[in-house]
Amino acid sequence: MLDKFLDSLLTLAYPQACQVCESSVEKSADGVACHFCWKKTNIFSGAETLCAKCGAFLQAKPTSFQTFCHRCDEHFYDSASAVGIYEHALAVSVLHLKREPLVARKLRKLFVARFQHSDFQDATLIVPVPLSKKRFLERSFNQAAVLSKILAKQTKINLDEQSLVRKIHTPMHRAGMDGKARELSVENAFEVKRPKFIEGAKVLLVDDVFTSGATVSNCAKVLKKNGADKVYVFTLARTL
Ligand SMILES: [Zn+2]
Ligand SMILES: [Zn+2]
Repeated sequence: MLDKFLDSLLTLAYPQACQVCESSVEKSADGVACHFCWKKTNIFSGAETLCAKCGAFLQAKPTSFQTFCHRCDEHFYDSASAVGIYEHALAVSVLHLKREPLVARKLRKLFVARFQHSDFQDATLIVPVPLSKKRFLERSFNQAAVLSKILAKQTKINLDEQSLVRKIHTPMHRAGMDGKARELSVENAFEVKRPKFIEGAKVLLVDDVFTSGATVSNCAKVLKKNGADKVYVFTLARTL
């Protein structure tokens, strides 16, 4: 009875419709999706089989040996990891973060916990995937930098928002743009401005979502060209 009363008070205080199913979100910690939609979302637990390089979801059951998807063979980063699959609650949370620089408590916890269970503990520098100047002016914040700050605060690993820049403004991914077209659109789009900060670093490259991997691979390419020892990719979500 009391719980019901408190819940309805919360609903009043927090009248947010779930951006997936439109039922009401009863806890502000859940952000823009309801409890039910969070439950449906595939958050990686460590028990599934993921590509040992790019982190692609391969099967729900674990395997005792390293498995690769081979779509990522040519990618320049060492390995990539994400909180879960870009679907339901995670998808709407990623979209919301492109509009507002806020990360709900549940998402923040999942992000930090996933990092803490990753093989990236020897990272020495956190670098967000940069936006172009034009996009930064349109949006006024970089969602990858928002995520990077959360990790830097929790882990005390240095954050570097200056060394890697996006020198070419690429249009938002258009519908029908396949992996190859995406790869070409971000090729040579990135540049290292301060190589002395990158040289010898084990870089944790942070972005909101991993799709084809073309963006992070091109970032990794210039980071390695400038002496990065390792490039790990860490994102909130990844597409199937
Ligand atoms: Zn929902
Ligand atoms: Zn892979």
